[in-house]
Amino acid sequence: PHYRSVALVIGVTGIVGNSLAEILPLSDTPGGPWKVYGVARRPRPSWNADHPIHYIQCDVTDPDQTRDELSKLTDVTHIFYVTWSDRPTELENCDVNGRMLRNVLEAVVPHAPNLQHICLQTGRKHYVGPFELFGKVPPHEPPYHEDLPRLDVPNFYYTQEDILMEEVKKKEGLTWSVHRPGVIFGFSPYSLMNIISGISVYAAICKHEGKPLKFPGTRAGWDSYWDVSDADLIAEHQIWTAVDPYAKNEAFNCSNGDVFKWKHLWKVLAEQFVVEFEEFEGDGDAPRPGLVELMKDKGEVWDQIVREKGLVPTKLEDVGCWWFVDAMLSYGSNLDTMNKSKEHGFLGFRNTKTSFVSWIDRMRAYKIVP
Ligand code: NAD
Repeated sequence: PHYRSVALVIGVTGIVGNSLAEILPLSDTPGGPWKVYGVARRPRPSWNADHPIHYIQCDVTDPDQTRDELSKLTDVTHIFYVTWSDRPTELENCDVNGRMLRNVLEAVVPHAPNLQHICLQTGRKHYVGPFELFGKVPPHEPPYHEDLPRLDVPNFYYTQEDILMEEVKKKEGLTWSVHRPGVIFGFSPYSLMNIISGISVYAAICKHEGKPLKFPGTRAGWDSYWDVSDADLIAEHQIWTAVDPYAKNEAFNCSNGDVFKWKHLWKVLAEQFVVEFEEFEGDGDAPRPGLVELMKDKGEVWDQIVREKGLVPTKLEDVGCWWFVDAMLSYGSNLDTMNKSKEHGFLGFRNTKTSFVSWIDRMRAYKIVP
């Protein structure tokens, strides 16, 4: 077939990578027909295997491997960078995530003569600082907009933006975009942070043990207005910047465009897994057992559920990400604004409740949760 565009997705089994792998090859995707290369560190999992892409197993922390595997992809026109690596401190995060991005760009930019655009996905921590500094530095006041200045703390998103700016200068006409989603609703059992997977697995364990679905967060997490980012919407947003000349060389927030409260989605979650809904009691600022604590000995329970229900084998550590769920459900209002995207021509949105249910359905359809 004759391709108009050639995508290289770095992190193709991740929460947004998996959506890009599904959407890019569709016949009506803007900029298409697309040929798609997808890179990830591990062998290709069964749940990613239906997507018509060229899968490349490569660890992009390794510069030699990255050069060997990616410099031969001379037909690439667009890079979608949707990966990261987590280290104990933010300084280490800056180092490793900077090197990963640089390894990829140094392997591709000089060898792909038709390369036009690079999408870099970062996130809302751009405005509030890294996890380790939550509550320790004054964040910006929400709703966050893209013109807010950087906070005066290390942040691997800043490191990545600086490297991106340096690398795009090396090729004339090469354009970029930065995408800053909030918490992402999507599908991937391999994601470091997947709240849908985390709370679905938690609900399945409550159901299995005959316990009510206790909210593991705080009063603020339960009661505040929240917004999130649907993974398919983020993929559409990235594809928009890839093809629309008016969306180049800009950073954009990317969120669903509506608000919700966890107390309402919690009811939906309880219905989905047919488990007893429990109202949040008390002020909830006192120390409480979060999921890190509650789920720490549940590995065998999960293995049993997987066996009994005939699920795709997963490890509880991979699908649980309890630290992330605990941190997020304790957080109050943290909204962004989509005005800049709209003003530049992106009018995409999602109904968050519909998005929530559809990703749980997807997890079920692929037999990740019962
Ligand atoms: P993810 O964790 O869902 O997926 C990462 C992907 O990269 C996977 O395919 C994984 O196999 C691959 N990968 C990891 N290390 C690799 C390596 N060394 N070499 C090759 N491939 C490797 O990713 P994500 O959550 O989409 O994260 C991308 C960015 O989005 C990060 O900056 C993250 O902070 C940000 N973000 C994520 C969320 C969320 O809820 N997940 C929310 C806002 C922002």
